[in-house]
Amino acid sequence: MSELPWVGGCRCGQVRFRVTAGPLVTMACHCTGCQRMTASAFSLSALFAAEAFEVTAGEPVIGGLHGEDVRHFFCPHCMSWMFTRPSAIPQFVNVRSTLFDDGVDGLEPYAETFTSEKLAWVTTPAVESYPAFPPAEAWGGLMAGYAGRG
Ligand SMILES: [Zn+2]
Ligand SMILES: [Zn+2]
Repeated sequence: MSELPWVGGCRCGQVRFRVTAGPLVTMACHCTGCQRMTASAFSLSALFAAEAFEVTAGEPVIGGLHGEDVRHFFCPHCMSWMFTRPSAIPQFVNVRSTLFDDGVDGLEPYAETFTSEKLAWVTTPAVESYPAFPPAEAWGGLMAGYAGRG
């Protein structure tokens, strides 16, 4: 990956963002919700400290689930799914890995979630797997493992 900060944006470019610190962990989510929202087998994301993430242009709107548990943010024009603020871990923001200008190379998933809903033919290079969303106590170990990966 290139030097920080990293920048990225939605498909149309109206919403732009920047991260000033590297990801804490990278993930693939196999849940049926992600399958529906991505029209793909799984979603790719990189988790950042909330204070390292900043929207620099445009005004993202809530899409996807509109509940209290998780807020999915989209570009209001091209409707790209951009990032998620999970209420279970409010100090973090989960950014869609494919939105970075420099591409997704280097952001291959370290962990995968919701393998209970995974399509049978899908495999990823993830070294940690969870049948659902990782429990709160799992995140410290996940981030330590990601930071110490070879
Ligand atoms: Zn857009
Ligand atoms: Zn998911």
